[in-house]
Amino acid sequence: MTENLKVIAFDADDTLWDCQPWFDTVERQFCDMLAPYGSQEYIAEELFKTEMANMDELGYGSKAFTLSLVETAIRVSRAAISAETIMSIQRLGRSLLRIPAKPLLGVEPTLAQLRAEGRYQLVLFTKGDTQEQLGKLRRSGLAPYFHRSEIVADKRIAAYRELCEKMNVKPHEMLMVGNSFKSDIEPMLQLGGWALHIPYEVMWAHEQVPEYAHPRLRVIERFADILKVLQPTS
Ligand SMILES: [Mg+2]
Repeated sequence: MTENLKVIAFDADDTLWDCQPWFDTVERQFCDMLAPYGSQEYIAEELFKTEMANMDELGYGSKAFTLSLVETAIRVSRAAISAETIMSIQRLGRSLLRIPAKPLLGVEPTLAQLRAEGRYQLVLFTKGDTQEQLGKLRRSGLAPYFHRSEIVADKRIAAYRELCEKMNVKPHEMLMVGNSFKSDIEPMLQLGGWALHIPYEVMWAHEQVPEYAHPRLRVIERFADILKVLQPTS
């Protein structure tokens, strides 16, 4: 990998800590609650449709997800659902605001080493709701390792360009580390930067895109392998 690297940016959800499995669990519970109105598959499909329709206005995160849960419940039940069930659904959705954000295996020692070496500026770069993402960062205990945190509405090329400007580096001096090919890898490569893909065990349907090889892309299985990739010979 390049020796010109100055900044390493890290995705948060499902890169530093697990997130999608918590959403999947809530979704399964939601489908169970709505079992009188349709199969698990049907309810999940309807929920996904609601989320996509709400994306432009509500963006990402648990608050948007909770509104989509409630909206879907009312629609599929043709407004027959009880206020009590709506309250339970709302509580279920809001529980996602309190997920533990416990660092994944190898994350903390690796960040600690990178920070101690002092060769790179380390940035947390995540999309979603500011308050929610900052809460997870705080609970993770990882905040002291980052020089900066940037929370944006969406991670497209323009957001990466702005991040480079804020960090005062050119794209080829930045490496983005993350689990989502769509949000973390592709836009960074298209801008001219470096990317390190760490696929996670589950992926939200909205984030699934075809993946491909690229001269400025490396793929690793374990977070700690970042240290190997950063060695000049790799
Ligand atoms: Mg992620």
